[in-house]
Amino acid sequence: MDISVSEFLQQLGPEFMKYKQTFMENEFCDSSSLRAMNIEVDLDYMFETNPLPLGHKRKLQYALKNLESVTCAEKNEMFIAPPESSCTEKNMDKIKEKLESNLQLKEKEKADYVHKRRQMDLIISDPDPIGPLKSTRCGNCHMRGHKADGNRGNKPCTLPPCNSWKDCGQKDKHTDYRVQCKQFDKDIKNADKEIEEMSGEIARLTSFQEKANSSFIGVVKERLRQTNKKSTLIAMC
Ligand SMILES: [Zn+2]
Ligand SMILES: [Zn+2]
Repeated sequence: MDISVSEFLQQLGPEFMKYKQTFMENEFCDSSSLRAMNIEVDLDYMFETNPLPLGHKRKLQYALKNLESVTCAEKNEMFIAPPESSCTEKNMDKIKEKLESNLQLKEKEKADYVHKRRQMDLIISDPDPIGPLKSTRCGNCHMRGHKADGNRGNKPCTLPPCNSWKDCGQKDKHTDYRVQCKQFDKDIKNADKEIEEMSGEIARLTSFQEKANSSFIGVVKERLRQTNKKSTLIAMC
């Protein structure tokens, strides 16, 4: 299946034709270059100054992903005999800059999660008992010294219910404590994964730029040997 970018956009609907110029300006002119797109990065990059409406973006992402699922053989052919290269050094520098600033943001985000997670490990001192029953803890306000019900004179606890483990230090009495810890752990893990991916892309891009002076075909072959994964090399162009 070989279609032009016009046909591709037309298939999504006439309202998508207005994006043709942006695709052409970025040299995504035919199905082989569309298939080679790094969908997540390139769309954001191309439409950075004039962001796509979310519905259009999702439709494009979906359609591009489906285009992408063509056989590897077809893709490899493209690597061995690349079309007239549209990668310019300037373009690559811009993409690298963008990747690096994204990486910085992600690292900041992670540091924030790590900080918040550490806060969860803080030991909150147990406030002094309120009332005569030193070793009894109230099920309502979580203070020691009295009970939620049936105190002297059959009186209930008069304090408002405890809202946070930070007030009473009783982490096991607050289910949201564990939920929050888990969420931060998950956020940190996801950030780590994204940081690794971004660093990898930057490293691959840098290494490609360094080798750019040597034979293009030689570099491509070497890269093909190293990885079967979707190559950043072509995708970044
Ligand atoms: Zn109480
Ligand atoms: Zn409490």
